[in-house]
Amino acid sequence: MKKPFLYSVVFLLSVQVSAQETANYFRWPVDGAVSLSANYGELRSNHFHAGLDIRVGGFPGMPVYAVADGYVSRIVARPDGYGRAVYITHPNGTTSVYAHLHTFAPALKAHIETIQYARQRYTVDEQVAINALPVKKGQLIGAAGNSGSSAGAHLHFEIRHTATETPCNVFSYDYYPLPADAYPPVIRNVAFFSFRRQGDIPSTANFYECPKPARRMKQIVHVPDTFYIGIDAYDAQNGTPAKLAVNRMQVTLDGATVFSCRFEDIPFDAARYINSAIAYEERQRNNRVFLKTYIEPGNKLQIYRDVKNNGLLSLPDTLPHTVGIKVFDDAGNAAAAAFTVQKKTGEPASLWPPDTDKYTVACDDRPASIMKDGLSVTIPEGALYKPAALFIDSIAGKPDGAYSPLWRIHTPETPLHYAMTVRIAAGIPDTLSSKALIAGITGNHIYSCGGQWKNNAVETKTRSFGDFFVTVDTIAPVITPAFAKDANLGRQTQLKIKITDNLSGISAYSGYIDDEWALFEYDEKNNRLLYTFDAKRISRSRKHRLLLSVTDNKGNTATLQTAFTW
Ligand SMILES: [Zn+2]
Repeated sequence: MKKPFLYSVVFLLSVQVSAQETANYFRWPVDGAVSLSANYGELRSNHFHAGLDIRVGGFPGMPVYAVADGYVSRIVARPDGYGRAVYITHPNGTTSVYAHLHTFAPALKAHIETIQYARQRYTVDEQVAINALPVKKGQLIGAAGNSGSSAGAHLHFEIRHTATETPCNVFSYDYYPLPADAYPPVIRNVAFFSFRRQGDIPSTANFYECPKPARRMKQIVHVPDTFYIGIDAYDAQNGTPAKLAVNRMQVTLDGATVFSCRFEDIPFDAARYINSAIAYEERQRNNRVFLKTYIEPGNKLQIYRDVKNNGLLSLPDTLPHTVGIKVFDDAGNAAAAAFTVQKKTGEPASLWPPDTDKYTVACDDRPASIMKDGLSVTIPEGALYKPAALFIDSIAGKPDGAYSPLWRIHTPETPLHYAMTVRIAAGIPDTLSSKALIAGITGNHIYSCGGQWKNNAVETKTRSFGDFFVTVDTIAPVITPAFAKDANLGRQTQLKIKITDNLSGISAYSGYIDDEWALFEYDEKNNRLLYTFDAKRISRSRKHRLLLSVTDNKGNTATLQTAFTW
């Protein structure tokens, strides 16, 4: 009896020591009390939020510090995505990530600018050698900002497992004490979806608003033979108006767990499976995001635990039963809702397989190739999450400037995990063929899907179903400087220039001041180029020549030649 007791004491002690070490290993990347505008696992477009969004007071400039000793292992500047970002690798097997920065600290700025000037290119995504940029815990690495795909100044902060690059939920690992959280999560809506083998012909759903947690809904929910549940829930924390992600969800049927999931350690290459995990149609139609209990056959996410029958529910008889929903936040606060469900009779007959004259059945576990006169569509294995009945045909409403019929390739209400290859034949004069591309159209909005002309057709890859046609882009980008020719900018710190393109999108730009390449930073969301005057590179109080050229993805180039005094 003595030995096991001793072992368990030793085990408990060692766990406690390491938890203590873990809690002190990291500091927060900003000073003062941390307040979040987003946390780990939030259900975003095509991905789960991979870290924490830390509030910085609404403006760029809050200092950002290394959270532990280590070395800068990667440094990034780009017009989209994480914008300006720093990655620091730590000896404990983690890497911290700081994104959407406004500026880099001087040593990092010098490092990246050397690369940018050597390559004459703003966009840099560079691995850094182990000893090139060592950092100490608390060392300044930059200022928080709004660079890249960011909708307001904040610090996007992640901790990843270095070996796999998988971002983790820092609270699940006790890397940080939990933020003050006196509030339970809120179950906003619960949906009951009928499950019939009907491909992608829309299922019916009943939605229930659950404004108050821990409340038993009075009405009886009539359910079909097989159904699944969708949960729309969020968490509230002290000191932030944000609607944050919950940590866990659980569904019970008559008290027995039939589904649970946990948002932790979601690898980047699995993040897009979110489109299978949520009720995608409902998001596309009504912008409401429900996490489904049903795990589709092509869904490879590892967030699920204790799931019976892939999350599909069936009642054994026509008596009333109880479905319980429980969600938990990072701090363990819970919210619950309960429904009385009863099987209804007179369920409509299965619509599967559908009318094969009108639909082509494609499966998730093998590739599909669909040919029509003038159109070919190839869908790779694993691109669909479940078998789908695809509608593919030419439709009326060909837009102006179309060189092909308007093709409807199914519906954007069905997600695609991998890109499909679309090839559309078109009659285009030889002189314009290099400008040809495939465009998508939603309502009046026309967007480029790119593509190359080959053998009397344009071929491209796209990750959305929709309506497509062939058109040409012969129009160069538009350059609009925010200053007049020969303006005196002596009191300014920056040159601002707006660049836009009508269709194919900007592929490259280069700016020269007095014939020397100049670092114009590109902010895609604002269509803005920014040059920060640098007295080390251009001399003060004289007239300077500026030459800027901007090229789109179809090789149309615009040029600005102007002058200013600085
Ligand atoms: Zn973020």
